Amino acid sequence: FPVTVAIDGPAGSGKSSVSKQAARVLGYGFLDTGAAYRALAWRVLERGDDTAEADAVVRALDGFDYAISLDPDDHWVRVGDVFVTDDIREPRVSAAVSGVARVPEVRERVNVLFRALVAASGSAGVIVEGRDITTVVFPDAPVRILLTASPEVRAARRSAELTGEDAAAVAEALHRRDASDSKVVDFLTAAPGVVVVDSTELDFDRTVDAVIDVVRT
Ligand code: C5P
Repeated sequence: FPVTVAIDGPAGSGKSSVSKQAARVLGYGFLDTGAAYRALAWRVLERGDDTAEADAVVRALDGFDYAISLDPDDHWVRVGDVFVTDDIREPRVSAAVSGVARVPEVRERVNVLFRALVAASGSAGVIVEGRDITTVVFPDAPVRILLTASPEVRAARRSAELTGEDAAAVAEALHRRDASDSKVVDFLTAAPGVVVVDSTELDFDRTVDAVIDVVRT
């Protein structure tokens, strides 16, 4: 089984970009688990349904043919025969995704998938990032990290990514999503044995170094 590095944290903590770069340096695979929730939310929206309705979300699980690349240098996400890599990052999907993530059937289904994807990755290790990886998906991973940053820094990073969007609106959407998500999983406190990396005062490269240091010790 590949060495599993579990990384949790809130939106805008830099989890995805940091995990991807750390995976490149280590020669590991990289699994973005939020993409599965986003892809399912995208599917619900494509069907003209409402992600706030659990029944509609559960129906969208039926025939949900989801695939994702674990190659940090060739990232893609596919639903059926549609590549949704960019579409699932749209603000309308971000606003809808918490509704999908709070449905227990969804969490059970994707968790099975995540474990299978890691097992089949064929790489020496996989960095898996999300909200409940250190606690639920891979609680026995040899390396478990909680990546945090202050709310202000997270909002600023996210609005820098989303050029053209109003900074205040981005900050508000991010806080609303965190508030909703934290009712489902606590991704702001480190479970016993989980190492906290606070990136508030660190730039990107230093954050990547901090994560790699934890993996190598
Ligand atoms: O990480 P990202 O912001 O792309 O995650 C999108 C959404 O997926 C989160 O807002 C959360 O609702 C859900 N999620 C989750 N558990 C995970 C990863 C993501 O509930 N492990």
